[in-house]
Amino acid sequence: MLTPDDIKPPARPRAPLAPVLSGATFGAPHLPRPASVLDAGAVRMVTSGRIAIALALREMGVGAGHVVLVPAYHSMSMIPPVLACGAQPVFYKLGPDARVDLADVASKLTQSVKAIMVTSYFGIPQQLSELRAFCDSHGVQMLEDCAHCFFGEHEGKPVGSWGDYAIASSMKFFPIYEGGCLVSARHALRTPDPVSAGAGFEAKACLNALESSFAYGRLPLVRAALWLPMQLKAALWGMLKQRRAPGAPNLTPSSSDSSFEFDPRWLDKRSSWFSRSVIARASHARIVQQRRANYLQLQQALAELPGCRPLFDALPAGACPWLFPLLVEDPQPLFARLHAAGVPMTRFAETLWPGVDASVCANSANFSQRVIAFPVHQELRDDELTWMSGAIRAALNA
Ligand SMILES: *Cc1c(COP(=O)(O)O)cnc(C)c1O
Repeated sequence: MLTPDDIKPPARPRAPLAPVLSGATFGAPHLPRPASVLDAGAVRMVTSGRIAIALALREMGVGAGHVVLVPAYHSMSMIPPVLACGAQPVFYKLGPDARVDLADVASKLTQSVKAIMVTSYFGIPQQLSELRAFCDSHGVQMLEDCAHCFFGEHEGKPVGSWGDYAIASSMKFFPIYEGGCLVSARHALRTPDPVSAGAGFEAKACLNALESSFAYGRLPLVRAALWLPMQLKAALWGMLKQRRAPGAPNLTPSSSDSSFEFDPRWLDKRSSWFSRSVIARASHARIVQQRRANYLQLQQALAELPGCRPLFDALPAGACPWLFPLLVEDPQPLFARLHAAGVPMTRFAETLWPGVDASVCANSANFSQRVIAFPVHQELRDDELTWMSGAIRAALNA
């Protein structure tokens, strides 16, 4: 029997789960920029996706006594912002293809429902034009959750431009330590421009991104040049931690240490200069091209293996994947084998909000228990991708 400890991700998988900075991050500047949420409209660069959700709900006028419809398959981090503004989440069903079950949503509409959150899982867009029309005809606001699709277009429009408001989680796509954004294609933003969270935060955002890169052997020359400053940072950090006043906000948002907590003290804080610079200067075309190519390579390598199938039949044109989600019959022993092999992977929504189970949505419960998702990000090297697909094949054939 596996205990919760066994299903924790390893301290460090053999290839990076999330993008890390490399010399190639800023390459290919001549290629045209692909569509992203930043094209949808007015933007506020904040420190996490969940902070952007809270700001979007505020923009929508969601407050005490209101209901926000949330998909039964969700990140735990989507719920605290709803509760923080005094509203109640009500969970709606998804179909077997992870699409919004509009009949179920319609059955849950009441006078109290102010907004519906729509997530395009793993970068594959939902039926966004249908959802937009549905929201318009029922007078409900749509919050497009682009946490998994920073990039992409659907029916000729950028992701993020279908909702009244949209949010994204830039950390999931760029080699940065913190970052999220709020956008709106349909309304002027009342949220003021966020302010810097201070020098300590600015330094930490930069150094942590560099450290993740060094941990995977990227940027060896920078690492050598920064050896001394990094030692100093470690020493300085110990000092700052000891001196920080009790109750002072953490130096980084909780999203950056993979918890689902929500800290309203980050609502007015701007994403770091470092993160914003990486987003501005990284090659967006390379991100989309590499992610699509890696996804297709994994899809081919894992086709027709026993006991699994990709969650999605195909990668639609114009989509940019976050991860490659594989629906497996018997997740626990497979997960243990992959873990032992050091394969990077995520079990998105493995834990659902208390009370959300198969009685609320059988498909969501199924995805929650049986989807294992593998990285396809732009910073995976060819040798890492080849090794990873071999290790996954071996684990499935064992
Ligand atoms: C990650 C995630 C969020 C929240 O993003 P953070 O940047 O981690 O706060 C919201 N929705 C979904 C579907 C997510 O996966």
